Amino acid sequence: MYQINENYLKLQGSYLFSTIAKKINDYKSKNPNANVIRLGIGDVTQPIVPAIIDALHKAVDEMGTMEGFRGYGPEQGYEFLREVIAKEDYQNRGCDISADEIFVSDGAKCDVGNIQEIFGQDNIVAVCDPVYPVYVDTNVMAGRAGSYNEKIGGFDNLVYMPCSEKNGFAPEIPNKTPDIIYLCFPNNPTGMAITKPALQEWVDYANKNSSIIIYDAAYEAYITEEGIPHSIYECQGARTCAIEMHSFSKNAGFTGLRLGYTVIPKELVCNGVSLHSMWNRRHGTKYNGAPYIIQRAGEAVYSKEGKEQLQMQISYYMENARIIREGLAAEGFTVYGGVNAPYIWLKVPEKMTSWDFFDKLLNEVQIVGTPGSGFGASGEGFFRLTAFGTKENTLEALERIVRAKW
Ligand SMILES: *Cc1c(COP(=O)(O)O)cnc(C)c1O
Repeated sequence: MYQINENYLKLQGSYLFSTIAKKINDYKSKNPNANVIRLGIGDVTQPIVPAIIDALHKAVDEMGTMEGFRGYGPEQGYEFLREVIAKEDYQNRGCDISADEIFVSDGAKCDVGNIQEIFGQDNIVAVCDPVYPVYVDTNVMAGRAGSYNEKIGGFDNLVYMPCSEKNGFAPEIPNKTPDIIYLCFPNNPTGMAITKPALQEWVDYANKNSSIIIYDAAYEAYITEEGIPHSIYECQGARTCAIEMHSFSKNAGFTGLRLGYTVIPKELVCNGVSLHSMWNRRHGTKYNGAPYIIQRAGEAVYSKEGKEQLQMQISYYMENARIIREGLAAEGFTVYGGVNAPYIWLKVPEKMTSWDFFDKLLNEVQIVGTPGSGFGASGEGFFRLTAFGTKENTLEALERIVRAKW
């Protein structure tokens, strides 16, 4: 008789967004005419910019010609894309990363989820708390997280690094030394960035302890402040201790098109085995690359027109972030994030849980956000609002939140 992977039974995750969906459906069935504004799910809303649409059309037409047809692509991704990534995202920022260290993929979620496959079973994994659920869930599926423990609101074998008001939402070195450390900055859900000296401390720590950092840079394009690192490779020594993932989802609207990449420097060697060659092997076997057409669209992200058009789109979202952040602060709310990331991390009023706050916003003023406790125990007391709505919706949402009785 076949057996299932019982680790899947330990998963807690999907409860967050399914509970939210259920609450919205219940509300709507009782109030069919209600105009519910959603600032909850982290998906973009603005259409793909013209420079990228042009590149897509061109690549589609090429595929219908004898000379332009492409079959299976190179496993690491097309050189035209890897070259422009290496130049624009790294070398122009003073980071020593070359095109052959880049692996083009169908998204960062896939890569951050899959990368754990090349690591052994007994690694101790550390995550921030609150956290993007993919890091935890994929390690649970792999059997590396242990069992869910109601008392701590987390998994027994994971090392949780609380990110709270006290530490400015930046993780501190944990008591137990982890082997694999997941970091994501600017952060989802807190919307907070990390300073370069603070990130450098993590790099030094990882090198000293022979740990590896898996760095998720999905929101790098939203950084507006000087001196905030766009890549972990801006830190000295990161080539020997860090893997980095990027996504085209949040900076260029590819949540539906699917494109991302992972950087594995050649120096990453564990007991004589190169991680670069392991990941290469994985790409060769379980291909999770992106179609030629989408890689051409990715190339257009770095064109002059593409950059200009995308900067306008990012500014549009960040203006939404500013509206929510400043509007709520002016009303006496405590708000974090929204300066270097498209998320606002709102402190819920005292004596309320983040789910109480969710229910109140939905029932009184028809606004949907995400309760912080859904991202981990330390997220309790906070509430995530996204800047990915339209400007009209964002202004309306602010007005309604302020109008609710506090
Ligand atoms: C949205 C998001 C991603 C992007 O994943 P894709 O698969 O590229 O769409 C990755 N990491 C974090 C933290 C995110 O919020």
